[in-house]
Amino acid sequence: MGKHHEYWIDLDLGYCSCNDYYYRTLSGLGMCYHLEFVKEKINSRVDTIHFSDSEYYDFVKSVVNDNYLMIRNEKGDLG
Ligand SMILES: [Zn+2]
Repeated sequence: MGKHHEYWIDLDLGYCSCNDYYYRTLSGLGMCYHLEFVKEKINSRVDTIHFSDSEYYDFVKSVVNDNYLMIRNEKGDLG
């Protein structure tokens, strides 16, 4: 859970759905804040949600939808 958004994180894949991930992590500049934070906390206590395979479609759908809304909001009504 971020400050303004809720992000999807997959530590095994090193994936996060935030903007920082796309601009920073995919450019090879290091992990985003969320991944770093979760990795630090993983040894103490972290709330983890496990999905079954049957929930995978809805999971991916919500990730795509979240990113679509985020991109759309940043572009305003011009896009
Ligand atoms: Zn992130």
